[in-house]
Amino acid sequence: MSRELPREEKATIRKLVTKWCANYDKECGCLPLDCDCYMLGKCWTGAFCRYFREAVLPLDPVLEAALTQDGPAPETRICPVCGRVFLPDRRTRYCSSACAKAARLKKQRGYMRKYRG
Ligand SMILES: [Zn+2]
Repeated sequence: MSRELPREEKATIRKLVTKWCANYDKECGCLPLDCDCYMLGKCWTGAFCRYFREAVLPLDPVLEAALTQDGPAPETRICPVCGRVFLPDRRTRYCSSACAKAARLKKQRGYMRKYRG
């Protein structure tokens, strides 16, 4: 399922490409393909430039989540505390340290209840 990219997302993509894409050149466009950057002409979600998807898009986790929301990408996780979809950093189970703390407290309370009888 693809949707049209709103102007803000296109602007963000353009910013990411021109700033971070190692294959992008202001004069030539996409260097390896020797043509205009595929991502800059993009108006719909769906297939993205592979380099962009893997190396550039993760620099903006919010945009990445927005572009992949048609189905959670395999690397996204759902926070068991607040239910938010997030991009795990290493092996985190929670979206934020606040949620990790909340989960830890809840677990501790659970243990206390158990051992108190
Ligand atoms: Zn959370």
